[in-house]
Amino acid sequence: MPGPHFDHVALIGLGLIGSSISHAIRRGGLAKRITGAARSEETRKIAERIKLCDAVYADPAEAVAGADLVIICTPVGAFGPVAEAIRPALKPGAIISDAGSVKTAAVRDIGPHIPEGVHFIPGHPIAGTEHSGPESGFAELFDGRWCILTPLPGAEPEPVARLKRFWEACGASVEIMTAEHHDLVLAITSHVPHLIAYNIVGTASDLEKVTEKEVVKFSASGFRDFTRIAASDPTMWRDIFLNNKEAVLEMLGRFNEDLAALQRAIRWGDGDALFDLFTKTRAIRRAIIEAGQETPAPDFGRPHGATAEKKKSA
Ligand code: NAP
Repeated sequence: MPGPHFDHVALIGLGLIGSSISHAIRRGGLAKRITGAARSEETRKIAERIKLCDAVYADPAEAVAGADLVIICTPVGAFGPVAEAIRPALKPGAIISDAGSVKTAAVRDIGPHIPEGVHFIPGHPIAGTEHSGPESGFAELFDGRWCILTPLPGAEPEPVARLKRFWEACGASVEIMTAEHHDLVLAITSHVPHLIAYNIVGTASDLEKVTEKEVVKFSASGFRDFTRIAASDPTMWRDIFLNNKEAVLEMLGRFNEDLAALQRAIRWGDGDALFDLFTKTRAIRRAIIEAGQETPAPDFGRPHGATAEKKKSA
């Protein structure tokens, strides 16, 4: 069975995900050499100062030269230009993957630039925080989380198995599905919830009868949890909505229908309908805790566990 180790891993984009992958590789001794590419001089300087990689380049083609595994960790909107830039430098037999939150867009934008003999396997680690940048990463980010791989039809099984083992060695469990199914699942579990958070925080900041000061002062009554999600990186989330349009609109359609039913239940004083829904939703929360995707500890917006330690020191 192919192992999780690579001689040389190249990470294009050194933000939360790129830097966390680098830390996880170092923790597990999964590569002999890590190179990175970052767009801005500021990010490259920080990456060099904290010794995130063995070498950091401005030109992504230089970073991928000789790499056995390349992972593109930029916002989804940059995938096409990045793939085009690295194409001539990709080593025959290398695996190229990405960490993007929309998989049909990765196939569409990276796919056409993959040369013969290079294995393209799109991926998405379902792990993150609202922080970004090269100093926000930590080795434990993927521990106990899922990483979804969406190999193209006809993909060779051995490189897929190797990438799977790599992510497992980074702490994740791996599931394989099609890019289309991934985008539908993530639309309801991640993209629509973020849109709701962005919307409710936007609405609250734009009210006439309730002041912004009051919104902040009394935020512990529920609003605060939405603000954590709504603090996520604007570029990344703009690109997600621009690139997962159909699936997000489909799920939003369902969401609006269900919201209208709730509105009706409130208007007509249908307490049973409200109570039944709120009971059903508690069961989903319990299932998430039982699946190990959250702890039952109340955090009231505060991080706990390994993440807390990391953030405390940040
Ligand atoms: P991030 O912290 O904002 O880092 C993005 C990195 O990409 C930075 O190094 C940035 O360089 C670089 N970059 C941005 N635009 C670029 C461009 N046009 N060309 C080349 N490089 C560019 O973002 P992240 O949270 O790590 O997210 C990276 C990817 O992982 C995204 O595709 C996202 O959808 C996916 N993802 C994110 C999460 C999450 O929760 N954050 C979870 C799973 C997957 P500079 O610093 O120089 O600007």
